[in-house]
Amino acid sequence: MNPVAANEEASLPASPGHGIAAIDLRSDTVTRPTPEMRRAMAEAEVGDDVYGEDPTVNRLEQRAAQIFGREAALFVPSGTMGNTIAIKLLTQPGQEIICEERAHIYNYEMAMLARFSGCVPRLIAAPDGILTWEEIRKRVAPKIYYRAQTGLVSLENTSNMAGGSVYPPELTDDICDSAHALGIPVHLDGARIFNAAVALGKPVAEITRKFDSVMFCLSKGLGAPVGSMVVGSRSLIDRARVERKALGGGMRQAGILAAAGLIALEKMPSGLAEDHANARFLAEGLARIRGIEIDPAKVRTNIVVCDVGNTGMAAAELSRRLLEFNVLANEVGGVGTKAGIRTAEELRFVTHMDVDRAACERALEAVRRLCPH
Ligand SMILES: *Cc1c(COP(=O)(O)O)cnc(C)c1O
Repeated sequence: MNPVAANEEASLPASPGHGIAAIDLRSDTVTRPTPEMRRAMAEAEVGDDVYGEDPTVNRLEQRAAQIFGREAALFVPSGTMGNTIAIKLLTQPGQEIICEERAHIYNYEMAMLARFSGCVPRLIAAPDGILTWEEIRKRVAPKIYYRAQTGLVSLENTSNMAGGSVYPPELTDDICDSAHALGIPVHLDGARIFNAAVALGKPVAEITRKFDSVMFCLSKGLGAPVGSMVVGSRSLIDRARVERKALGGGMRQAGILAAAGLIALEKMPSGLAEDHANARFLAEGLARIRGIEIDPAKVRTNIVVCDVGNTGMAAAELSRRLLEFNVLANEVGGVGTKAGIRTAEELRFVTHMDVDRAACERALEAVRRLCPH
């Protein structure tokens, strides 16, 4: 079995075995908790969170709500569970959910929108993963009794598989306002919303204020070992707590995890700019390698998705051969289309706090050596 799986959820640990630390660019999920997080975890004050008695979880939820300018927040074990809960609360079985074709909720969440919420996706292919109201409007189901109705619009910011692209805030504001005018709620899969905020130079509260629900991850670029949050109104979050329990997400002394989450939330966003600069550096280097297609100007956050189709190697093969250099990058093709045809030979590099500039230079050098010039 290929040790470098095609998506971040299924990736196995790297074992290149040359005695050198691997340069792991598969995902920012591989980040390990900082020493400060470890200390906070060891010392965390805890209680039973299912009884609402874990003081550290309560603090994390209050801080997240405050930072996002919302009434309430809920700590959940994963981003998938956060999205699943929000989607459940905002839809009815038998409805359609409008999202971009590369959306995580559609491709990497085990079809939970169908399994748990009883909905089907209505997909749109959008340049750089960025939807506009004009495109969405065309897919809103007409109010005819024999057509499944549009229950929700779900946006992803940053858009993971589109290369970490960022929504201009005017666009998301417009989509939310226009959908709301038709009575359609809008969810934000903001797994990397702090990356978007850093790229835009705007607070997360400002760029997410019009969404009905927001999910974001503590466990990616922010470095926490486990956990995501859902933020929204008090009534939404009260109901989210019920759905979390239904999914088996009631975690008891979860303050151990929330302690790391608090540090992720307070201290880690400022480090993301460096990840973004490293991703841009990687993209610029990759663009100069023959057979690799990538527009570095489009790399604004920490994700580089490049087409390696013209290198003479399939993405999976290049990924496998990079292992010889202790470089890990995932092959991610197949979730998007170009002119209606599935994109296949795509390789993704994700920068994060455990990979510095020197490591990016070494990764680039490895790709250069493997590709003919
Ligand atoms: C990682 C990710 C999630 C959530 O993933 P989990 O592994 O379930 O925490 C959701 N959306 C996007 C865009 C992601 O990249």
